[in-house]
Amino acid sequence: MNFADLHCHSTFSDGSFTPTQIVELAHQKGFKGVSLTDHDTTKGLPELFEAAKKYNLVALSGIEFSCYHKNSSVHLLGYGFNLHHPAITRLEDKHLERREARNHAMVEKLKSLGIEVNLAEIKTDGVVGRPHIALLMVKKGYVSNLQEAFQKFLGEGKAAFVEAFTITLAETIEAIHEANGYAILAHPHLIDSSELFNQLLKYPLDGLECYYSNFNRDQNERYIKKVAQKEWIATGGSDFHGENKPYVAYGASFTDENTFRKLCRTN
Ligand code: AMP
Ligand code: ZN
Ligand code: FE
Ligand code: FE
Repeated sequence: MNFADLHCHSTFSDGSFTPTQIVELAHQKGFKGVSLTDHDTTKGLPELFEAAKKYNLVALSGIEFSCYHKNSSVHLLGYGFNLHHPAITRLEDKHLERREARNHAMVEKLKSLGIEVNLAEIKTDGVVGRPHIALLMVKKGYVSNLQEAFQKFLGEGKAAFVEAFTITLAETIEAIHEANGYAILAHPHLIDSSELFNQLLKYPLDGLECYYSNFNRDQNERYIKKVAQKEWIATGGSDFHGENKPYVAYGASFTDENTFRKLCRTN
């Protein structure tokens, strides 16, 4: 049964819908549960929990942490953790610092390329990410859309890209576990090589995001088998970003009730 979409971003990171609007979408879709996985922040969760009460939906704490393993970027989803736990708060603070330094460095690179954008113009409820910078570039007419900003300047290895690998996968899994949550590897199909994937499987993860976006069951077979073998958890979510990723609809992927209830350990 389709119980909840477990991967979505709000205005507290780089999504265009507020947590309340995400709850409204979940309700319209007929979901009974809701979660929010903003990049490196839990700031949107109190609003999500409040709105969920109004619609009688079960809300699950969530986050998508950016981290790295051996020079590769890895996204790790956390669920069911205690969002006030100091291990989580400490990591969130480290990410704020990391993003602040990285964003300034990217703006400097853009400047040297003749592109003037001012971070002070960005209005956000939580963390500032590359999509915010890309949207400013569109607004100022330097590029015609978000995709072009990433393809030419902000994507990995592009002209104004700055790597900011400061927080490891090991440290992130540990923090989620300390806060009594589950650590799930996000969108495993985006991991470049099987060698890297196999290395990641050696970490003390709790599961893989087996159902993602518009992918069908066959495309995810490999991950479903791995989860069964390890007795891990298979989650699903769309990676909804609202208008910032218009081709992905809320609820395009989802998680069943048993899995959702299992993840609800803490809240
Ligand atoms: P950040 O966390 O600040 O490094 O930004 C990463 C976010 O940028 C991702 O979660 C996506 O939402 C977005 N993003 C990454 N690559 C692209 C791309 N090629 N086109 C559009 N958005 C992208
Ligand atoms: Zn994003
Ligand atoms: Fe991600
Ligand atoms: Fe995401």
